[in-house]
Amino acid sequence: MEVAKTIEQVRSLVKAARGKGGKIGLVPTMGALHVGHISLIDAAVKNRDFVVVSIFVNPTQFGPGEDFEKYPRPMEADLEICRKSGVDVVFAPSPEQMYPFENVTWVNVEKLTEPLCGKSRPGHFRGVTTVCAKLFNIVSPDAAYFGQKDAQQAIVIKRMVADLNMPLEIVICPTIREPNGLAVSSRNQYLSDRQKKDAANIYKSLRECRRMIEAGTTETQQIIDGMRKILQQIPSGQIEYISIVDAETLESIDTISGKVLAAVSVKVNPARLIDNILVDADG
Ligand code: AMP
Repeated sequence: MEVAKTIEQVRSLVKAARGKGGKIGLVPTMGALHVGHISLIDAAVKNRDFVVVSIFVNPTQFGPGEDFEKYPRPMEADLEICRKSGVDVVFAPSPEQMYPFENVTWVNVEKLTEPLCGKSRPGHFRGVTTVCAKLFNIVSPDAAYFGQKDAQQAIVIKRMVADLNMPLEIVICPTIREPNGLAVSSRNQYLSDRQKKDAANIYKSLRECRRMIEAGTTETQQIIDGMRKILQQIPSGQIEYISIVDAETLESIDTISGKVLAAVSVKVNPARLIDNILVDADG
């Protein structure tokens, strides 16, 4: 496995692989790799000839007062995971490598970035889409792998790729969970064992949403009220949003029909935890 710190290095490694007819897979991450990331890497390794994992804590997607400085950066452990998983290249650039000048060019996906996480994290998705566009231009992968865990991010990236005719496939992989249902996240490291136990109510609320829809409940507010009752059982939890939206447009819906996305964000100090499920009300 090679570790490329510069854009020039990763480009030349990818060029050599492509020269041998290899199909390139990219897994963009911020590191602190866990089983969720590994599931993306496994999918890429299985389906592509040459896999690049990027590890970059992207400053432009963090807002003031967010956890950019203290975001975990266990580089040696991450490299070991990548080695064991059959990754060909880890691209681990410095912030200066990715942003050598003050950045004045941004990719901004409208509408889809406004609801859900967009409300409380202004500028977050602009940072995500811009860094992904840069990574796609640097690595030029045939496919890039993202997690359903960050449902809005997945939808936004897919739309950016479609709108800008970027020549790659976006593959979305299922959310990997702890045995108690808590979605695995690098930010779970911030939680105590007690908080992790309590945070299982996040997935419990999403399962309740699915149960109510399957039982024929069509009034969105009624379902949200049911979910809130469960989320209120997290003693240190501050509910940021409970939303049930159209799974494609992310627009709010009063009445459940077709494919819906139920998404939740809860702050369990100091971590902000998000999770979601897709439910097809038509079965
Ligand atoms: P991050 O390092 O948090 O930026 O995540 C990198 C990628 O891993 C994103 O596409 C995430 O959606 C994905 N990911 C994070 N956690 C999980 C999980 N529990 N299951 C599946 N994918 C995940």
